[in-house]
Amino acid sequence: MKKTALITGGSRGIGAAVALKLARDGFIPVINYLSSRERAEKVAADTGGIAFSADVSDMEQVMDMINTVNKKLGGISLLVNNAGISYTGLFNDITLQQEKRLWDVNVGGVFNCTRAVLPDMIRNKAGSIISISSMWGQVGASCEVHYSAAKSAVIGFTKALAKEVGPSGIRVNCIAPGMIMTDMTSGYTEDVLCELKDETPLERLGCPDDIAEAVSFFASEGASFITGQVIGVNGGFVI
Ligand code: NAD
Repeated sequence: MKKTALITGGSRGIGAAVALKLARDGFIPVINYLSSRERAEKVAADTGGIAFSADVSDMEQVMDMINTVNKKLGGISLLVNNAGISYTGLFNDITLQQEKRLWDVNVGGVFNCTRAVLPDMIRNKAGSIISISSMWGQVGASCEVHYSAAKSAVIGFTKALAKEVGPSGIRVNCIAPGMIMTDMTSGYTEDVLCELKDETPLERLGCPDDIAEAVSFFASEGASFITGQVIGVNGGFVI
């Protein structure tokens, strides 16, 4: 029987690349999206999956999504916590509203989706949860303090939950991407991108497929003895 993978924020960027790769690996992808219905449905059509709208920061919407997916596809065996937002600015220039939204999506979203899929995984004594953190969650970025802190929380979440649910046969891992060319990084100037490239030992910026490959590995049988780990996919920018 085919396994089902829920990818949050799967309509574009890293999420869409992950959905395409997991479909090639034999998963049925569930493409969660916030508002880009057309793009999500295109990814679903390309991957033989289904698209489902839910704001991951809203537990009710998340539960509706999971209940519907469970009825249609009989449960989720892989959760990829990918949805995320970023704000750049000096610490004191980020508003309380932005701070709350960033935390609600980047951390609350991970908690909500996990809370929703875990009971079934525990009952089945199997499952895999992969969350997308950031290299800034490992080393911190100036002018991205809120984002860095939220992404550090995702790493802490991964390590602690891996210990808690390992005995239930569930693996919990995390990917910390470096600079990946997506909508999220489209605001960077050419000069900044060149500088970042120059500082990267492998002398290139990343693409969504680089992250999709790491997700695919964590989700595979080949990673069956790996849990609680963080893989940096960053061209050596952070070592
Ligand atoms: P992106 O902006 O293209 O994708 C983010 C996705 O999350 C979008 O589809 C967006 O609609 C979705 N999303 C945002 N808020 C949501 C919500 N409340 N509910 C449901 N979906 C929501 O950016 P990306 O680069 O593909 O980012 C994917 C993940 O990778 C994010 O968690 C991001 O923080 C992380 N990341 C990206 C980079 C990078 O350089 N691009 C580096 C490190 C980590």
